[in-house]
Amino acid sequence: MTEPRSEHTADVIVVGAGPAGSTTAYHLAKAGLDVLLLEKTAFPREKVCGDGLTPRAVKQLVGMGIDVSQEAGWLRNKGLRIIGGGVRLELDWPDLASFPDYGLVRKRDDFDEQLARQAQKAGARLYERCNVTAPIIDERTRRITGVQAKLGEEKAPATFHAPLVVAADGNSTRLSLAMGLHRREDRPMGVAVRTYFTSPRHEDDYLESWLELWDRRGGQERLLPGYGWIFGMGDGTSNVGLGVLNTSAAFKELDWRDVLKTWCASMPEDWGYTPENMTGPIRGAALPMAFNRQPHYTRGLLLVGDAGGLVNPFNGEGIAYAMESGQLVADVIVQAHARATSAQRELALRNYPRVLKETYGGYYTLGRVFVKLIGNPKIMKIGAQHGLTHPLLMKFTLKMLANLTDPKGGDAMDRIINGLTKIAPKA
Ligand SMILES: Cc1cc2nc3c(=O)[nH]c(=O)nc-3n(C[C@H](O)[C@H](O)[C@H](O)COP(=O)(O)OP(=O)(O)OC[C@H]3O[C@@H](n4cnc5c(N)ncnc54)[C@H](O)[C@@H]3O)c2cc1C
Repeated sequence: MTEPRSEHTADVIVVGAGPAGSTTAYHLAKAGLDVLLLEKTAFPREKVCGDGLTPRAVKQLVGMGIDVSQEAGWLRNKGLRIIGGGVRLELDWPDLASFPDYGLVRKRDDFDEQLARQAQKAGARLYERCNVTAPIIDERTRRITGVQAKLGEEKAPATFHAPLVVAADGNSTRLSLAMGLHRREDRPMGVAVRTYFTSPRHEDDYLESWLELWDRRGGQERLLPGYGWIFGMGDGTSNVGLGVLNTSAAFKELDWRDVLKTWCASMPEDWGYTPENMTGPIRGAALPMAFNRQPHYTRGLLLVGDAGGLVNPFNGEGIAYAMESGQLVADVIVQAHARATSAQRELALRNYPRVLKETYGGYYTLGRVFVKLIGNPKIMKIGAQHGLTHPLLMKFTLKMLANLTDPKGGDAMDRIINGLTKIAPKA
């Protein structure tokens, strides 16, 4: 089969139409670049997730012109309800100039499709059922010049060409691996599992998180570094799941599906989190954190979202960071695209890892310290059982964990957090 060359050639190829890829494609297309967005599945499709969006993610959605009103089917929340150490605390999202004061919940099948369609509306050319199988590498320069793919239900071989390729193919990021970019073992990693139950608790003004997840093997009780969540979906179901860090000794030993089942069995019966109310199986996936794949730019390939290990190590949130990195990478590419010489373009592109480090480097370094600390069950226990009794401390903790401060003109807490992230090394 001969391919119509113009259709398969663009300024930029974006591989993967999750939040990172669709946001990247949207901003590139808005700036007038010709973008191919290649997605191996067909929408709507399931993605394993908690479906919870903080104000950081809301800001990104608003920036893409997406209607986030209740009438358009979005469920709003006011903040976070934290349960632990016998205490139940409701903390509202902070009032900030930089971010809205509400979060959202939306199932990923529908959420991801909306983002992809918004990118299409902006002019990106979306190919669904397009499984990218390998990079095309120029033998002389060793740069990526396109990708090979299997297209359509018949899995027909196809090639796509562009001088720049964005890897937005999620945690497994085969494309980055094929370009020699491996996972850094010295960075934290999480794992999360979740399922849905029909439940009377399907509508909630707060995202709920439970700080006490126990490992009760061998007659001992150890607190695990992570949390369980209950997010009302507003459609008769709750998304119930848990996320745990790899810094505890129990990480490789426990079956996280069993831990979730045990936790659910400990809940009040009338909430309905029983096996017969489960609407689907328990599914899980990894949470790549704190820049666990680097460099974020090499030889024509740029990494965004989970592919670049951008999940926040403090709270396991990944959607906002996937979308923000999409916007950041688009800015860099648009500037590079307008340069006259290849040396000038390269100079602009090499700035992308620096921009990411400037934006998140200090915060993620603090996150790595946090992750190590709570990997110690004793410290986790002190935090979960005593920290919640200090409302001011909890307000500070919410700002820190959700990365919600004003860079300029914020309050004293904002200034402390911004000061700490500024002085922390940006690795
Ligand atoms: C159980 C669980 C709960 C979570 N809960 C939350 C939460 O509540 N809030 C939050 O903010 N984050 C949460 N996260 C993290 C969040 O899901 C991710 O950080 C986020 O999806 C990353 O977006 P992404 O676009 O980088 O990657 P993905 O969402 O993984 O998208 C990658 C896309 O690339 C496509 N793709 C992959 N390979 C190829 C290929 N070869 N060719 C073409 N396309 C390809 C995939 O089909 C997919 O559409 C959770 C994660 C897990 C596992």
